[in-house]
Parts: sequence; structure tokens; C-alpha cells
Amino acid sequence: MTLTAGVVGVQGNVAEHAAAIERAASDHGEDVVVHEIRQSGVVPDCDLLALPGGESTTISRLLHTEGIAPEIRDHVAADKPLLATCAGLIVASSDARDDRVEELGLLDVTVERNAFGRQADSFEAPLEVAGLEAPFPAVFIRAPAIDAVGGATVLAEWDDRPVAVRDGPVLATAFHPELTPDSRLHRLAFFRGSSD
Ligand code: GLN
Repeated sequence: MTLTAGVVGVQGNVAEHAAAIERAASDHGEDVVVHEIRQSGVVPDCDLLALPGGESTTISRLLHTEGIAPEIRDHVAADKPLLATCAGLIVASSDARDDRVEELGLLDVTVERNAFGRQADSFEAPLEVAGLEAPFPAVFIRAPAIDAVGGATVLAEWDDRPVAVRDGPVLATAFHPELTPDSRLHRLAFFRGSSD
């Protein structure tokens, strides 16, 4: 069976996520077709979804005006996997503490935008992630931190702050797993039960 994947492409790192999904699927022995999502009507056909980084205020506004927001909520309610990265994490959260962001409330966490400060607003770190054997090369770009974790499970911390969490079918990272050739995080998000 060929899987159908969607990368929400209203703004952000679409091509990189699509390539990472293809690598993760092939590592897992699955065929996948990846669609870029800019309008409503595509998400309902998707088995798995990525919500990329970019600018969370813009992404959340476009998701609502294009009618994609309720479709993403239905996708998660149907227990289908969603990987939300960086601004995607902010949009997927239950509280971004910013009136300009209309959260999807898919992930029981509060986030702080741009939490790692100006001086270190972009950096790469070897991150220990629960479920992965070797550290993951995590690229942080004006990354948010997760401040309060409600029902979500913390998978990784940096500087004593959660930066990767799972809440049911949703896996969210403050960093950009699509920007390295390492597709283990996509595999962890989309092929639960697989280990490496
Ligand atoms: N700082 C951005 C925001 O708050 C997120 C940055 C990113 O996705 N790389 O929306």
C-alpha cells in the first residue's frame, strides 16, 4: 500500500520535510506520495502530516483563512500522525501566549516563542531524544521552548527546557529535523513502534 503524506505548505520548509518523509518511509520499507498542502480538501486524504516551521503568526492565520485548521484537527482526532516543527509546534500548541497566534490546541503544552534569545538564535546541538539510540543533530532557528507540559510526554530537553514532546499521535520539536540528512525523527513521528 502506498501511503499519502501531506506537508502543510502555506509557509515554511516544505521541500525539506517532503524529502525527509520520503527517506523515513523508504527506511521503513514503505512507499509514499507527498502532497504540498496550500488549500483545504487535501488533508482528509493524508495518512500522515507535517506542519513545518516558518512564522507562527502567518501560518496560523493562513490555516484558518484557508479552512485547513479544522482538517488538521480532524486528522489528529482520527489518531493519524502529525509532526509539528518549530513554528509548527507553536501553532499546534494549546497556548502560545501571543494574541497573534490562533493555536490549534492539538498538543497540551504552553510555549515561549523565540525562547533561546538573540545571541544564540541559531545553533546546532547533539540532542538526546527518548526513543533514539544516538544523539540527534538538532538545528535550532529562533526556536521556541516548551514551558509547561500538560498531558504531553517530554522526549528531549535542551538547557533544562523541553524541546521535543509527544502527545498521542502528535510529535512536536522546537528544532528542525528536516534540515539534516538524519530522518530518524520523522521515522519516530510517523512509524510508531519502529525503533532504531
Ligand atoms: N520564531 C518563529 C516563530 O515564533 C519560529 C521560527 C522557526 O520556525 N524557525 O514563529
